[in-house]
Amino acid sequence: MTRVIVLGPNLIDQSKGSFHVHAAGCRDINSYYGRQFDADKANPLDVNSVEEIAEYVYDYEDNPREYANDFYVFPCVYFTEKEETVKAIKFSFELYSEDIFLTVEIETDDYDGTLALLESVPNVRDIKVSVPGIPDVMAYAGSK
Ligand SMILES: [Zn+2]
Repeated sequence: MTRVIVLGPNLIDQSKGSFHVHAAGCRDINSYYGRQFDADKANPLDVNSVEEIAEYVYDYEDNPREYANDFYVFPCVYFTEKEETVKAIKFSFELYSEDIFLTVEIETDDYDGTLALLESVPNVRDIKVSVPGIPDVMAYAGSK
């Protein structure tokens, strides 16, 4: 967590965004004069990313990331933890016997382990993999 002070949106210079974000304790905060900043200065946020700031400020809008550009994060702010990005890898495959087959879909974040497992099972065929950001044909590196 990083403690920040979010100043705005009543800034004189909005060329960098409607809101300015400084690390709590940054001396530059003193250069924001005026009562309109009193509440901002009194309400530090503990966050891990600019997206989280957007969530707070815009009261949990559906897509806070769309508002991330409204915030100019000064170099005094250093986010210590990267936001967790869980990559949902989707496997689909057929479990088959002589008579029937069953299409199964699973989600995982472990590509190699899941692929190795599926390939080790004799009655599995037609493995397909969907990895975010990678075309399906390239995502599957197996042999079944
Ligand atoms: Zn600063």
